[in-house]
Amino acid sequence: MVIAGHPDDADFGPAGTAARWIDEGSTGWLVCCTSGDAGGEDPDADPLELAALREREQRAAADVIGYAGVSFLHMPDGALANDLVLRHHLVREIRTFRPDAVLATDPTVIFYRFGGVNHVDHREAGLAAVDAAYPAARNPMAFPALARGGLAAHRVRRLYLFWPNEPNVRVDISSTLDRKIAALAAHASQIKEPDKLAERIRSWAAEEGEPIGAAAGEALRLVVIDDDEDEGPDSSLANAADAEAGAAAAST
Ligand SMILES: [Zn+2]
Repeated sequence: MVIAGHPDDADFGPAGTAARWIDEGSTGWLVCCTSGDAGGEDPDADPLELAALREREQRAAADVIGYAGVSFLHMPDGALANDLVLRHHLVREIRTFRPDAVLATDPTVIFYRFGGVNHVDHREAGLAAVDAAYPAARNPMAFPALARGGLAAHRVRRLYLFWPNEPNVRVDISSTLDRKIAALAAHASQIKEPDKLAERIRSWAAEEGEPIGAAAGEALRLVVIDDDEDEGPDSSLANAADAEAGAAAAST
């Protein structure tokens, strides 16, 4: 399950990883906390029309990646907060889809290592995803109305945080980079120069894949919540290759 603040975050983020794991048999689900209703330049634009357009774009992109579906939580763009309302929505999504792994923006990043400020919605969405995955989703007494309504507690075992300053795993996305670029192109309202963007994504993927000898990669920060016994006792992740083997086995 990929949890994103805005439509297009998941496609700029771990789309190559998601597509690869889906190709390898995982089932993926995308959750967008907002519908990107403030993602434009025109102060006179109708935010609801923009939100509807961006949901259509995100659904088209999700089809390219191969997600089984997309949930939109319709929270306000630019005003996302890691509050109990958002956490409740995310716990409901997690308990419904029941993912092994949740991919979300790294909430610890305020300033990117190579420059720039991380959007507040990315930080809040990431923090809400972490707090929903652990401990709320696995605690039957958290949001008890969900359990009483039939959504039993669920243990998310791993978090993969995207856009991290301190990545500890890299996933080879050579086989799915073209789909990541095609998914990004579906966000036509956000992308003014698709060719330049494709070039930028290719060079970014090349940089992220280089340390593992892959033509294209995505760098993520893995947080293991529950060890898989059948993966052996060592979860220290000193060896990136081991981490990737685990990553490939996990459901998105
Ligand atoms: Zn965003």
